[in-house]
Amino acid sequence: MARTDDACKQEPGVFAPVIDRARCEGKADCVVICPYDVFALGTLPPAERAGLSFLSKVKGTLHGWKQSFAVNADACRACGLCVEACPEKAIKLARR
Ligand code: SF4
Repeated sequence: MARTDDACKQEPGVFAPVIDRARCEGKADCVVICPYDVFALGTLPPAERAGLSFLSKVKGTLHGWKQSFAVNADACRACGLCVEACPEKAIKLARR
């Protein structure tokens, strides 16, 4: 169940989600649950795959490198719904 705006304490732009590229599997729970449309699915660029572990590369290949991206990070109100929803524990909130 989505929270109301009252649960989002921060003004937009104070915090932003940080996605762990070694964990994200593009399952899109964050895309669905974010009340402010912060996320979109995309493909991890090859340059960002290079630093990942062998296991993460295997995982990424199996999922076609589909991952979530914070394309609208400026709209984040730090409600934490995405952090709770991610099944891979791939999202943290960071002060900008
Ligand atoms: S904390 Fe996550 S779900 Fe909440 S507004 Fe920010 S990006 Fe969206």
